[in-house]
Amino acid sequence: MKNHATKTALRKIYAKLFKEFGPQRWWPARTKFEVIVGAILTQNTSWGNVEKAIQRLKAAGVLSERALRDIPAAKLAALIKPAGYFNVKTRRLKNFMRFFFDEYHGSLKAMAREELPQMRYKLLKVNGIGPETADSILLYALGKPVFVVDAYTKRFLYRHNLVDHKVGYHRVQELFMSAFDHDVAMFNEYHALIVALGKNFCRPRPLCEACALNNVCYSLSSKCNSCHRALLDGEKRVATKSGFLCLDC
Ligand code: SF4
Repeated sequence: MKNHATKTALRKIYAKLFKEFGPQRWWPARTKFEVIVGAILTQNTSWGNVEKAIQRLKAAGVLSERALRDIPAAKLAALIKPAGYFNVKTRRLKNFMRFFFDEYHGSLKAMAREELPQMRYKLLKVNGIGPETADSILLYALGKPVFVVDAYTKRFLYRHNLVDHKVGYHRVQELFMSAFDHDVAMFNEYHALIVALGKNFCRPRPLCEACALNNVCYSLSSKCNSCHRALLDGEKRVATKSGFLCLDC
């Protein structure tokens, strides 16, 4: 699909999602520092498990910059156990805390003063911080205008023929960032709305009939029965007894 059409589709999708779900008021955290901890803990697990781990950190009195820097790794691992991969995540949290104190003396204000490209570059150098975590920190904790891409985003874009199967993180990010003004509130809202879409409708087995997006670059009557991609091009699908399959399935 041509870039202009993709941008138009992304704008239409935003309007429809906002109408469907309303403002999401993200990120679900009490402080900016809590956003960062949550962004690291949420890798490969559900938000419910992250909440349990955050509660345990709070109850132990270590959900603060200095306390998290100073807590021994073994104690931290025991506290964040509900978030899964707790040894890996302990290392990642400790890596981040070391970086945070070395570079910014543990000050979020100092960190937020850094220019976006420089800040992003430095975050990505921290072992265990990938693009999605870095961008979540930049957008939701530091108020930088950057779009966060996740698996929900790629899944619904693929199903709507807006990206191909192997699309990379930065290509998807560029699609959104070239379609809209770089506005923190808007990027905040759009990502949160996509999460609501992925949880409520665009699941592994999607609920397309009830979904607000089923008429945007999508065809209920000719989707692939396996991957649920809309097969608008007749040459790219095979008819079966129960519907269609795409050539990849
Ligand atoms: S219409 Fe179906 S494929 Fe498209 S976003 Fe909704 S649930 Fe996902």
